[in-house]
Amino acid sequence: MKTARGHKKQGKIFVISGPSGSGKTTLLNKLTQDREISKLLIKSRSLTTRPRRCQERDGKDYFFVSPDEFSRLLKAKKILEWTRYLGYYYGTPREHVEARLKKGGHIGFCLDLKGAAILKKIYPQNTVTVFVLPPSLETLKARIEGRSKSTDKKEVAQRLKLAARELSAAPGFDYCILNNNLQVALKELKEIILTHIGS
Ligand code: 5GP
Repeated sequence: MKTARGHKKQGKIFVISGPSGSGKTTLLNKLTQDREISKLLIKSRSLTTRPRRCQERDGKDYFFVSPDEFSRLLKAKKILEWTRYLGYYYGTPREHVEARLKKGGHIGFCLDLKGAAILKKIYPQNTVTVFVLPPSLETLKARIEGRSKSTDKKEVAQRLKLAARELSAAPGFDYCILNNNLQVALKELKEIILTHIGS
């Protein structure tokens, strides 16, 4: 779409955030498979130094890289924003994101609180932040434990501790979605996205 001056309008950024186990990644993955949404929105793929979980695929869920490679890309300014989460590095590759936004394409991100704040700061006009709330801390615990059979007990405990802290950031987001029922949460997220893409 073009602005009144004939410039191409920048694409929109949708940052989905929330504690580990809130279901934010599932929500965004499912949404980008939706017939209507898949034509409009792509999901950004992050780089990470965290080990791959058994159901994850390199290049699809993440680009799994070594700490040295991450550091090299960071120095070369190839990473738009990054964070350290429980000892591992995560970052958004810059080039693809900037090129797509420039062309007016929209992108969805699953990021931690720091990533959400940074993208809102870099792109204040076109970033929409959504916080996904789990129904309860008990559900969160069950999801984190169930998902990661291979994740050690220490990491589960760390993720839970961090989750309790992350929950307090929800009021600072543009929207909050309660992920009690996946279909209901998906519908809400789809509505938010279509409202902003249409505007
Ligand atoms: P996980 O290990 O559960 O896949 O991810 C840990 C946290 O890092 C999650 O909150 C996830 O959304 C966040 N994350 C994943 N990729 C990125 C990224 O590129 N940048 C930032 N800031 N956070 C990320």
